[in-house]
Amino acid sequence: MYLSKEELIQHISTKPFRLVSEAAEELGVEAYVVGGYVRDIFLCRPSKDIDIVTVGSGIVLAEKVAAKIGKGASLSVFKNFGTALIKTKSFELEFVGARKESYSHDSRKPVVENGTLEDDQNRRDFTINALAICLNKDRFGELVDPFEGLYDMEDKTIRTPLDPDITFSDDPLRMMRAVRFATQLGFDIEPETFEAIERNKNRIEIISKERIIDELNKIILSPKPSIGFDLLDKCGLLSLIFPELDALKGAETKEGIGHKDNFSHTLMVLDRLAATSDNLWLRWAALLHDIAKPATKRWDPKVGWTFHNHNFIGERMIPGIFKRMKLPMNEKMKFVQKMVLLHMRPIALADDEVTDSAVRRLLFDAGDDVDELMKLCEADITSKNPEKVRRFLNNFKRVREKLAVIEEKDRVRNFQPPVSGEEIMETFGLPPSRPVGELKEIIKEAILDGIIPNEYEAARILMLKKAKEMGLHPVK
Ligand code: ATP
Repeated sequence: MYLSKEELIQHISTKPFRLVSEAAEELGVEAYVVGGYVRDIFLCRPSKDIDIVTVGSGIVLAEKVAAKIGKGASLSVFKNFGTALIKTKSFELEFVGARKESYSHDSRKPVVENGTLEDDQNRRDFTINALAICLNKDRFGELVDPFEGLYDMEDKTIRTPLDPDITFSDDPLRMMRAVRFATQLGFDIEPETFEAIERNKNRIEIISKERIIDELNKIILSPKPSIGFDLLDKCGLLSLIFPELDALKGAETKEGIGHKDNFSHTLMVLDRLAATSDNLWLRWAALLHDIAKPATKRWDPKVGWTFHNHNFIGERMIPGIFKRMKLPMNEKMKFVQKMVLLHMRPIALADDEVTDSAVRRLLFDAGDDVDELMKLCEADITSKNPEKVRRFLNNFKRVREKLAVIEEKDRVRNFQPPVSGEEIMETFGLPPSRPVGELKEIIKEAILDGIIPNEYEAARILMLKKAKEMGLHPVK
């Protein structure tokens, strides 16, 4: 973790830093690289966004640096925020003047004034995000770490630089960020900081849904997302931002029969999936696959606990959840819905004899998403009985093999009817009408059941035969 000044200088000896250093010298202002970029040097994480703070005007410094780069730089200036961004092919530099922020209780929009580097570090969220490295010539590579952020990185601790009650009350999004960094980095939230989150949790209300979902998505995309959801649960934020997930908690027992705790099961599925897929929307599907279990839970004296149709009801709950959370209500949501709807199909398949027609139907319904669906289903096997797990995973292997064989043979993954509606209408002189749909459906079902191959000739013969039974005759 510890880096000597020489080693730090090595990290900032590249062109962008040298140019900022020269420009700052010429303007006679202090300039520092701050925040996430500095943190990630010490944590050996790749980082692309470079934040520069200057004690003066960020815009003036950016203009000077852009002039030095010349043609390859595109400069955007955001006058209202006093910030500027330089983009080149190989790096991005964001500039801001050091600022002092003061907040009032009922808004998260602070009053912003020019300030010193120290003021700027005071307004940062966590000690590990408050480090700065000086870029001025005579102090080049000097680390400014007023809150012992380096020590906290060593100790794997998330801690606010100032009184945590003030830090969180000023900008309650920081509570989500604390959980997010703990999850991404595998750090602990220092107890006083955590207690302040518990006390301030209700202030999350003043934060926009978009900012909350950004952090939640980063938690979901972490290597072990359950860390974040357990923390959100423990501090009380979970029930405020995601009541449907909170409702999965608990395991009821009746007549000595219990059901599994669907919250811990869901988190286990999400962690297992995270090991095989970094698709955000598949991870959302894992999070939501059992979301309708509380709504569909029944006690049946004959069989115990049941959750009939939880996949259908879950699919229907998703638009409401996505709308409230300001998640995209487009094909991404439709993908999540499809995964939730179908999540039990491969399990049911693997349970029985794996028939060709069941596999063909699965391919037809899942289409190109069948591989993602299989990943979700494999992650869904969380039994503690190793023999059971082995058997299921083995059966899934057979399902996968069969999927490949059937797809090769019947190509139903992106099914196109071999005889079109137009052809049916032309053959029998029909207008668009119910019999046309019925004939198409009969052909599709026969292909899925393996009665005829997915080929034009066979489909045409079946069409003529079934049409005759329906009393229809070719016009020529
Ligand atoms: P990542 O790039 O992984 O999202 P980051 O911390 O590097 O994380 P930003 O979220 O862009 O990137 O934040 C950059 C820096 O700005 C942080 O390191 C922190 O110093 C400061 N910062 C960002 N958001 C806040 C906030 N809500 N309150 C206080 N400081 C913040």
